[in-house]
Amino acid sequence: MERFAGVIVDVRAEAVNRVFQYRIPEAYQRQIKIGHRVLVPFGRRKIEGYVVELSSQLEIDPSKLKDLLELLDPEPLIHPSLVQLAKWMEETYVGLLSEALQYMLPPAFRYGKERVGAKKAQVATLLISQPQLRKNATAQQRVVEILQRTPEILAADLVVQASTTYQTLRALEAQGVISLREAIQERKVEWDDIPDPCHTLTSEQQDALQAIAEEMQGGRRPVLLHGVTGSGKTEVYLNIIAEVLKKGQQAIVLVPEIALTPQTLNRFAARFGERVSVLHSGLSLGERFDQWWKIYQGDVDVVIGARSAVFAPTQNLGLIVLDEEHEGTYKQEEGSIRYQTREVAIKRCELVEGQVVLGSATPALESYHYALQRRFRLVELTKRVESRPLPQVHIVDMREEFEKGNRSMFSTDLRKALQNLVQTGDQAIILLNRRGFSRFVLCRECGEVLECPNCQVSLTYHQEDARLHCHYCLHREVLPGKCPKCASRFLRQFGVGTEQVQEVLGKEYPELKILRLDADTTRRKGAHRTILGKFARGEAQVLVGTQMVAKGFDFPNVTLVGVLSADLALNFPDIRSSERTFQLLTQVAGRSGRGEKAGQVIIQSYDPSHFSIQAAQNHDYHDFYRKEIGFRRQLRYPPFSELVRILCSGPQGATQEAAQRIHSFFLGQGFPKEDILGPQMAPIGRIQGRYRWQILLRSATVPVEVLKNMPGVPDEVQVTIDIDPLYML
Ligand code: ADP
Ligand code: ZN
Ligand code: ZN
Repeated sequence: MERFAGVIVDVRAEAVNRVFQYRIPEAYQRQIKIGHRVLVPFGRRKIEGYVVELSSQLEIDPSKLKDLLELLDPEPLIHPSLVQLAKWMEETYVGLLSEALQYMLPPAFRYGKERVGAKKAQVATLLISQPQLRKNATAQQRVVEILQRTPEILAADLVVQASTTYQTLRALEAQGVISLREAIQERKVEWDDIPDPCHTLTSEQQDALQAIAEEMQGGRRPVLLHGVTGSGKTEVYLNIIAEVLKKGQQAIVLVPEIALTPQTLNRFAARFGERVSVLHSGLSLGERFDQWWKIYQGDVDVVIGARSAVFAPTQNLGLIVLDEEHEGTYKQEEGSIRYQTREVAIKRCELVEGQVVLGSATPALESYHYALQRRFRLVELTKRVESRPLPQVHIVDMREEFEKGNRSMFSTDLRKALQNLVQTGDQAIILLNRRGFSRFVLCRECGEVLECPNCQVSLTYHQEDARLHCHYCLHREVLPGKCPKCASRFLRQFGVGTEQVQEVLGKEYPELKILRLDADTTRRKGAHRTILGKFARGEAQVLVGTQMVAKGFDFPNVTLVGVLSADLALNFPDIRSSERTFQLLTQVAGRSGRGEKAGQVIIQSYDPSHFSIQAAQNHDYHDFYRKEIGFRRQLRYPPFSELVRILCSGPQGATQEAAQRIHSFFLGQGFPKEDILGPQMAPIGRIQGRYRWQILLRSATVPVEVLKNMPGVPDEVQVTIDIDPLYML
């Protein structure tokens, strides 16, 4: 019987986000499969597409039916289960299927694809070292300059680096200046060769393994591995992966940020050797391409990577581990499909009968909620290995320091502890918790933060209209001249930088060598590794940094962790700010005292009685959870509802109008008024000259059909839908 191919064309537009049918030429009838890339006629053009359905049912007018032109690869690049996953993503996140499918393809096809246009990996080399080029051929000159520096480079990389098109390369090839040849080269991903001893598992670790093994045999519920910092979660992952490999299956290990986990990588490499593939953004496009093929061809057993590695093309997937599953980097914040990696991993494993393990010392509130509801299986590691104690946490009230006349950023206690370091020679981590965005207003005398009278979130100062805004309701007010609580005039917008901290520390403690880890110092490729390597080798005593220093490092000589201001995350205009504060403090505290010597933690705060700071002091996740889940229930925030953010951006008038139109549309759809928040200016009201307006919907379930039918807006206004948004800037 004749079959027809249902094709998604590779065009990013809502208007063509549906399946088009094509006739399959006789020659391809046997070969064609779901997941194949094809070339199809579309209007007057020929474009690429992906086969997502094969059916003997013709659903269009036979006179309109056209032949597909070409199969672009001998075997499909996208596994059928990943085609299914892409469809699920389209539906769940209300985005474009062609975009979801892109995630499943090798990186060279994905990044700047329109510009690359290469079907196979090609390596470019320079044939003439000083070619004569036309004067105005600037793109060609750029290409040649790059090749003069780098003798051999993947064509896809070259095109991106020279910001040009594939045509330029072909033109140079035609002139005999360069050669292009197909090659899939082996590029070794580096890691330090430190052996990792196998440990005798603790009884808690054994129980965890047992529980995961049980789920793998039957229930297949995702396992939430809640283990305090240093309780040996990674050791559990390593053991369970070994089991999966024995069955001839592969494992994917997701980490929040690969550059921040060199130690974890070492441990995996030490155990599983050459069959480990590490995907990270520090790799060049060519390197990523190579890794993709190795995985696709089955030459890899363990894939380690950040968010997008959840789509790694393993053919026989048995396990996905999400380490630090609560981390915000697991949320995709760009494009039409703003997925949550945790949910994607669960869906992917459901499709292939794989197992998901979610690990964290501070699980996302949702995850713990699902565990208590038994959608997830809960496994807890309550003790550090080798009975090491959790560190003592001491909280300093910075309002008192201010009263005592100490106007510096270091409290007396933290100074003492740093002084002590000079004697002991131990190491310290100093965290300055600062996101690029800290426009809340704080009273330095009493610690009061200006909050919305309706919403329990801090107000944000907007330069645009010189007013404080609430981002959950429409409340606005002018900035008061003095503190509403204590009448002090020391009302400040908050923020110092890590550089400043390093400078002050350096002056006060010239004996201490200080390293800094933040966005500035880590811009260069490999900079993370260098800095962390130095610190690990004891070449510096103090590591100062932003959130990055809170990640899962294991430095046994760190006995002091200092947090300069615990409150900066607390006062973020976001329902998750308490949760993030607790997570951050707990994580960074967990860096202290991991070796033989006991550790201490000093947290400076303007709001020391806040429950998330208190809970972090006591290392008490359960206490934090109980209180926070109560608030969420009361205010009907996730997990008790779904939030959907609709963001409009564009020219001022048109954007505001579009937001208003969408708002009226939701009203017309019968959403209660109190569940449609907005329209209002987004917390960042303008980015690169584009105005930003948002609407927040609160709903028991995601209203997919309604969202698909939103009214059209002018082309100049861009509308994005974000299901369960994490950061609403
Ligand atoms: P987590 O991932 O929970 O923070 P890790 O797995 O990194 O914890 O373990 C912390 C440290 O303890 C590591 O140095 C690890 O090698 C070591 N470790 C893990 N399990 C054991 C064990 N059963 N016995 C001894 N040491 C262990
Ligand atoms: Zn005050
Ligand atoms: Zn409000």
